[in-house]
Amino acid sequence: MIASTGYAARSATTPLAPFSFERREPGPQDVQIEILYCGVCHSDLHQVRDEWGGAIFPMVPGHEIVGRVAKVGGQVRNFKAGDLAAVGCMIDSCRRCESCAGGLEQYCENGMTLTYNDRYKDTGEPTYGGYSDSIVVTEKFVLKVPGNLDLKGAAPLLCAGITTYSPLRHWRVQAGDKVGVVGLGGLGHMGVKFAHAFGAHVVLFTTSPGKAQDAIRLGADEVVISRNPEAVKKHAGSFNFILNTVAAPHNLDAYLELLKRDGTMCLVGVPDQPHPSPTVGNLIFKRRQLAGSLIGGIRETQEMLDFCGRHNITSDVEVIPIQKINEAYERLLKSDVKYRFVIDLASLKQK
Ligand code: NAP
Ligand code: ZN
Ligand code: ZN
Repeated sequence: MIASTGYAARSATTPLAPFSFERREPGPQDVQIEILYCGVCHSDLHQVRDEWGGAIFPMVPGHEIVGRVAKVGGQVRNFKAGDLAAVGCMIDSCRRCESCAGGLEQYCENGMTLTYNDRYKDTGEPTYGGYSDSIVVTEKFVLKVPGNLDLKGAAPLLCAGITTYSPLRHWRVQAGDKVGVVGLGGLGHMGVKFAHAFGAHVVLFTTSPGKAQDAIRLGADEVVISRNPEAVKKHAGSFNFILNTVAAPHNLDAYLELLKRDGTMCLVGVPDQPHPSPTVGNLIFKRRQLAGSLIGGIRETQEMLDFCGRHNITSDVEVIPIQKINEAYERLLKSDVKYRFVIDLASLKQK
């Protein structure tokens, strides 16, 4: 076994604290990665506080992982010691079902294995995530990081990046489209960057007037303060697509009304309480669609990383030592992040 250290939550109400545990030795198809950086997703906070139910403690969160390969098993072909490597939200799936066969492992009909807060299907042992010094993952679920990307800014691509890239691609956002992004946090700021890169006219809806200038710098063409209903209504019936990243329950009708006929609003935020149910009329009169999307498959995650490499797209990050993780969670709750916290795992060695 590999002796590992990280930070874990012991319960839904205790702060994260140092934690020692063991990981398996790499098997023939495994890649052992020394973790350099790990992004802090709002999903980490939801799960650490057991807001979605079923949390497994102690929990080592973290699913935006970049690092260097330390060791590979004898059958590994695409990685060698010293390579850059990345791991996102899942570390395995059944590999047989229709979704897996179609490269959509996140929708595995037999249940993917999450990077943390889950159990290995074979041993039943808990999975531990990236707020730690190393991770061992089967090669098929390990991604390649383009060498030109800043590693700190690349880490959030593994969740915030793919979760916004995938729906924008699925709904074929392209030049000439008018696209709304709701919420300028970790996901939202990547949504703005990708929608802009795909040539759309991007309108950012934010509750934080202080983020308006940044939104333009990140690629938005217009910014609307969503607490001002009149400003929101001015865009009625005009959007092809809206990506809603908000992590709290809110009135969806205010945004559905902004879609054109046949427009789609895709939810990616996962609040702990339900949204108020939207008005049926807002859907049927213009044949609008309310949809959802979950991260992205392994093939598409690699496609997204390669796209970011070619276009030099990374996340705007605030790097923190792991000792500041509890403070970072409090700031995340106040929408006080520009625009992703990333843990520098070298800090694990500090006392
Ligand atoms: P985040 O960095 O905290 O960003 C969320 C943003 O939503 C905030 O910055 C804020 O933006 C806005 N917001 C927060 N509270 C709000 C409220 N009460 N009303 C309106 N707007 C509010 O979170 P994140 O990491 O981007 O994650 C966002 C959500 O997506 C979380 O629920 C997370 O669990 C989920 N998620 C889903 C997937 C998936 O696969 N579907 C993947 C990753 C994460 P402004 O300041 O601009 O208003
Ligand atoms: Zn995430
Ligand atoms: Zn499957």
